[in-house]
Amino acid sequence: MPKYHIWTIGCQMNKAESDRLASQFEELGYEPTAKVNDADLVVLNSCVVRQSAENRVVNKLAAIRPQKKARPDVLLALTGCLVNSDTDALKKRYPHIDYFFKPGEHPPWLEDSGDLSLPRHPSPTAYVTIMQGCDNYCSYCIVPYRRGRERSRTIAEISEEVSELVGRGVKEVTLLGQNVDSYGHDLPEKPELADLLQELNAIDDLLRIRFLTNHPKDMSDRLIDAIAGLDKVCEQINLPVQAGSDEVLRAMNRGYMAEQYLNLISRIREKIPGVALSTDVIVGFPSEIETQFRQTADLLSGVKFDTVHIAAYSPRTGTAATKLEDNITLAEKKERLDIIEKLQEEIATEINARLRGETVEILVEGRKRGKWYGRTRTDKLVFFSNDGDCAGQLIRVRIDKTSPWSLQGTVE
Ligand code: SF4
Repeated sequence: MPKYHIWTIGCQMNKAESDRLASQFEELGYEPTAKVNDADLVVLNSCVVRQSAENRVVNKLAAIRPQKKARPDVLLALTGCLVNSDTDALKKRYPHIDYFFKPGEHPPWLEDSGDLSLPRHPSPTAYVTIMQGCDNYCSYCIVPYRRGRERSRTIAEISEEVSELVGRGVKEVTLLGQNVDSYGHDLPEKPELADLLQELNAIDDLLRIRFLTNHPKDMSDRLIDAIAGLDKVCEQINLPVQAGSDEVLRAMNRGYMAEQYLNLISRIREKIPGVALSTDVIVGFPSEIETQFRQTADLLSGVKFDTVHIAAYSPRTGTAATKLEDNITLAEKKERLDIIEKLQEEIATEINARLRGETVEILVEGRKRGKWYGRTRTDKLVFFSNDGDCAGQLIRVRIDKTSPWSLQGTVE
């Protein structure tokens, strides 16, 4: 049996894409191998969001060159964000790679194999990409230059895919886009994310709907109402703030001020009781002085997010922020990173501890180290023991133990 190997780095969109490719290859009779040198087909799914990620991809491309030399019949392909519109330049730079295809495109050597894109035996939870690209130009971000302008899939197309996945056993979908709040504005009828959620909410046997990522300047009250009113849409919102200082937000070209962000949070909490909030922050942006960093820490202390994804700023060639001097030392960035991590650990400890003794409903995703695990509607990871097969079931669990990162409980 021929073997395939997929190497993936980057965001959930890349992971979703790689799952699909794996399923296509298995339909065609390939089997997976963890050893790249054993593979007859190798796909590298690239990420360029940070310079360090792009460097890893470039190193990987170099590392597989000898394999092609030793075995010219092995098929090598590159996809993901390194593949831009200038594939000729890529072909010149990496002549040992047979195929280049953009994220979301069909692998060119499978053009005639029809629609094999959905996994045959998916897990209970699946990612569904609803749009590609981004029209914002946050000054530190390379995504709009690499993934291009926003391109939304139609509601009919997404709905068909979700129904198909549900027919194959999926119970929960997470809709993906760089900025899901601007979903649909490029389509003739200009549907909004709220319209898409309403349509998907009506699919029988689908239990839960989530989505990522929101943009504070684009999130509408209509969407907040939809989350509050649609029973399958989970009470969980990822709303990256990035900084608590207006000067830093302006330099980042985020398009909102801290107060607007906080007002949005208040509206969300008012309309969606018990909502779980997560955010992203960048510390050490060029010229971020101590008081500005403190404003970020104060905002996090005030809002008390369930989860915070923290990154230290690193310049990305090709973005506007590289014109600013990267003048915060590595040691200072590290110190700020540590402060936020510690702060968030305390906040998450406190939030999760409130669940001790409570009963929560979880959708079971799988088994890890002898325990079943799943998530609450608010995205809390819960572990429990059970002898039966619980995968894909909604189970009520009483929480016995909590930590900042996960919960443990007993089936009721
Ligand atoms: S919204 Fe900003 S950070 Fe997000 S992908 Fe677009 S440009 Fe990048």
